[in-house]
Amino acid sequence: MIYLDNASTTPLDSGVLEKMMPYLTASFANPDSQHGAGREAALAVLNARDTLSKIIGCKSENLYFVSGGTEAGNWAVKGACAAQSDAGRHLVVSAIEHPALIESALDLRKFGYEVTFVNPDADGVIQPSAVADALRGDTAMCAVMHANNETGVIQPVEEIGAICKKAGVFYYCDCVQTAGVLPFPVGHCDALGLSAHKFYGPKGVGAIYISPTAKINRLISGGKQERGLRAGTTFVAGAVGCAAALECAVKSAAENNAAVSALRSSFEDNVLREIDGVHVNGAGARLPAHSNLSFDGCDGENILFLLDMKGIAVSTGSACSAGAVKQSHVLKAMGLSDSRIRSAVRFTFGKYNTFEEVDEVVAELKSAVAKIRRC
Ligand code: PLP
Repeated sequence: MIYLDNASTTPLDSGVLEKMMPYLTASFANPDSQHGAGREAALAVLNARDTLSKIIGCKSENLYFVSGGTEAGNWAVKGACAAQSDAGRHLVVSAIEHPALIESALDLRKFGYEVTFVNPDADGVIQPSAVADALRGDTAMCAVMHANNETGVIQPVEEIGAICKKAGVFYYCDCVQTAGVLPFPVGHCDALGLSAHKFYGPKGVGAIYISPTAKINRLISGGKQERGLRAGTTFVAGAVGCAAALECAVKSAAENNAAVSALRSSFEDNVLREIDGVHVNGAGARLPAHSNLSFDGCDGENILFLLDMKGIAVSTGSACSAGAVKQSHVLKAMGLSDSRIRSAVRFTFGKYNTFEEVDEVVAELKSAVAKIRRC
């Protein structure tokens, strides 16, 4: 298989798995247990938290292990609104957020909250002035991601953070796509989230940083884990794997970003030269891995299917629900035409891809597009 869906998930790095293995086997104890084996597991979690917080640039007591980006986003939206309900019942959420954020905000409408969705410009960038215009005296929280998962477009989160800070509004920054690629905007937000499976770590574990001055309620109640703010027995191997993966990603970020960017450039240069009627979606500054392209006269789902038949894994921004294909909300918010949205395919490169794979994908893509256009 040629895997060009690295924004969706990445393979587990073998070095990371090696570090996780003891906690999946012999050192299986519950880190909350009082005995020696429990203390050994607790030490592993403590070290993992320490490693992650040093990389993020925060204190370890302000970092909480969660199940991933979805839980982090739910906690930020629902927890911040619950803690700020006296201030008001209004949220500002960018229209290009991951469904974890959008659906969390929409859930709150049942409890009397009003949501303002801020659209990006045609290049996929959420303008700070648009966020400033959306904030109100009763805004409880704001969510604008660090970079978008479909286009890779990087958002001006420092400016947005400054606007929220001035307005006294809790600001959550979803860093799921940027962790291990860009520095964390820790000084510019009240909370940020990351997910290990996006940087060659295990699925089902991530972390959320919450500023010590931020007001937020817990989402999951129960035991006293994570200082009483996130109940549930800690996924020790996951915490260890998350830290090992981020450490590895950050250590080789410059080198990896350059390599992935070179693969993406070679891919886009060749596609634009070899195939007519191709458009790049998201002209703002992008993460190195992402290439979101639209192909005139094609349906993205058909391209995906034909490439899949050749063992090439890519994705479209659309989602299938109840048998119907739902358009990408990200490309729609950018104001792209229906035909351009329908014909979009996302290719995302990773550290295990090669130039030979790029050449093969370009050739297969050229033949798939020609085949669809002939029909
Ligand atoms: N936020 C963004 C930007 C994502 O890309 C994803 C996953 O695709 C998530 C949140 C959800 O993360 P997880 O899969 O860890 O729940």
